[in-house]
Amino acid sequence: MDLTRYLHTFSHYLRRRFGEPVHKLSLAGDFTCPNRDGTLGRGGCTFCNVRSFGREPAALGIAAQIQREKARTDRARRYLAYFQAYTSTYAEVDTLRRLYDEALAAADVVGLCVGTRPDCVPDAALDLLQGYQDLGSEVWLELGLQTAHDFTQRRIHRGHTLADYRDAVRRARQRGLKVCTHLIAGLPGETAGDMMATLDTVLEMGVDGLKLHPLMIVRGSRMAAQHQRGEVMPMTLDEYAGLAARMIRHTPTEVVFHRISATAQTPTLIAPDWCGPRWQALQAIGQRLAEEGGQGSALGQPWLSAAA
Ligand code: SF4
Repeated sequence: MDLTRYLHTFSHYLRRRFGEPVHKLSLAGDFTCPNRDGTLGRGGCTFCNVRSFGREPAALGIAAQIQREKARTDRARRYLAYFQAYTSTYAEVDTLRRLYDEALAAADVVGLCVGTRPDCVPDAALDLLQGYQDLGSEVWLELGLQTAHDFTQRRIHRGHTLADYRDAVRRARQRGLKVCTHLIAGLPGETAGDMMATLDTVLEMGVDGLKLHPLMIVRGSRMAAQHQRGEVMPMTLDEYAGLAARMIRHTPTEVVFHRISATAQTPTLIAPDWCGPRWQALQAIGQRLAEEGGQGSALGQPWLSAAA
C-alpha cells in the first residue's frame, strides 16, 4: 500500500527535499541515559529494553557503523546519520561535536537525526545542532515525549515532565531546528481520549514531525514483568489502527510522519504479536485512512497525494 496517498511520510519529505531517496542509518554513540546511570534512576523507563536498540553503544566507531549500516540498508545515494540508542545528547558538547562531526564527514551523509529526552537538551547542544543546520545539513531533533500526561510519565518512570518538553521545544524551534516528537499509544492507564489530548498538546506547542508507536512489551523491560502479572496489556491491531488513523486525520498536512508503527522481533518482542511483521500495522492504518480520510481531513484539509 502506498501510504503517501494518505499521509505526509518522511520518505516522501526527503525525496522532495533531495530529489531522490535518502535513507537513515541507525547509529549508537557512546551514550547512556539519566534514567539508567543513576542520575534519575537505574531501572529505566518501564517499557524500555536498551538492547532492543540493536547493539551495544559504541561497539564500533561512528565511521565503521556507517559503513556497516550502509551495507545493510537498501542502496541509496544519500543518508541521514540517526543517533538512536540511549540519549544521544547526553554528553559534554565536545563529545557530541566529535561524534556528530564524524558522522557528517562520512561520504554521502547529508544530515543528522538525534534522538534524546526533553530534559537532556542544553542550549550548548542545540547551538551545536543549529550550527550544522546553518551549514546546510538536514537536522532533526527527535524528542521522546511518549505522552503529555505527567501522571503517565510518573507511572512509566520517565523522569521528566511535560514542562521539560515544552521548554525543549521552545528553545529548539527558536533556533529553527526541526522537532520530531515520539509518542506511544496504549500506555498503561491511558484511553484513546488521553492520546488525542496528547496529540492536541503537541500540535499546539508546534512540531515538525511525529513518530507514533504502539506500546510493545519487550523482553528485559520492567513492563515485561507487569505484563506477565496481567497488569499491562497492549492494544489490539484494530484498536491501534483506529487510533493511529484518527490521530493522523487530526494532524495538519505540513507535519511529517517519520513513523506510524513499530516492529520488534522474537525473542525480544513479547507482545503484541502483530508488531512482528513489518507491514501488518501499516496496511491496517492505510486501510482506515483510505476509508475514513487521510492526514488533516478532520481539520478540513485536503488529502495529500504522492503528487503533492
Ligand atoms: S527509553 Fe530512553 S530514557 Fe528511557 S530508559 Fe530507555 S534509553 Fe533511557
